[in-house]
Amino acid sequence: MKLAGKKAIITGGTRGIGKAIAIAFAEQGADIAIFGTSEERGQEVVSALEAVKASSEQKFFFKKVDVSSNQEVKENIHHVLEIFENVDILVNCAGITRDKLLMKMEEEDWDAVLDINLKSVYNTTQILIRPMMKKRSGRIINITSVIGLMGNPGQVNYAASKAGMIGMTRSLAKEVASRNITVNCIAPGFIDTDMTNQLSDEQKEGILKQVPMGRLGNGKDIANAAVFLASSDGDYITGQVITIDGGMTA
Ligand code: NAD
Repeated sequence: MKLAGKKAIITGGTRGIGKAIAIAFAEQGADIAIFGTSEERGQEVVSALEAVKASSEQKFFFKKVDVSSNQEVKENIHHVLEIFENVDILVNCAGITRDKLLMKMEEEDWDAVLDINLKSVYNTTQILIRPMMKKRSGRIINITSVIGLMGNPGQVNYAASKAGMIGMTRSLAKEVASRNITVNCIAPGFIDTDMTNQLSDEQKEGILKQVPMGRLGNGKDIANAAVFLASSDGDYITGQVITIDGGMTA
């Protein structure tokens, strides 16, 4: 078990990539608090984690939290800290898209994407960084996107949020490296989840043409890297962006 006794918070852990990371962490022995928006999906994930856990000691729970709300995040992280005592691993995975050409993009589309994808990372990290610094250990994994590296028409809001995560990750990594806290991004390419299922067949075909491996990735492809970064295997890796995209950005 690579994460035995470790305690993790995973935002957006109720489905897709976040759920795959939660399952992989549970298989490796971690205790996990999931933050998400759907109580029903949250409870389903908790049952899924119970089914794959590596030890009877492991604890899992779900909190309904809008990660764009500083107040909600603060209250719920304090609640998690009461239960877990400390948090070793934070995975910021919650995210949305509101795709439109900039010309047609409403202020609300911009704000929602920036608040949920980027401000959320400030909300969670700003609170957890203090106890991690005190403990002189911690792992922060931010799920960005290849779109934050490459850009994409129709996604200026999403690309800005994901590029923002990368700048934030590199800066914070430098702030806290001396305290043995690592901060990294994983940049997935085109992964088969509810988020990509919103795309039309034509859009999917267009994207697949850009993937040299000729297939979509799956949650496990991303979760494997998250386990690697969260475990002692990733001890000396910080401030990096690990791209997992079937060769899309090669
Ligand atoms: P998804 O839509 O399946 O899951 C998104 C998760 O975020 C859900 O659990 C949802 O409850 C949560 N969420 C949304 N708004 C929230 C809020 N306000 N507060 C708390 N939780 C909220 O998406 P996914 O494909 O699994 O994507 C997960 C992450 O990976 C996102 O950050 C996304 O940008 C990123 N990503 C996905 C792909 C892909 O191809 N699927 C590619 C690159 C990056």
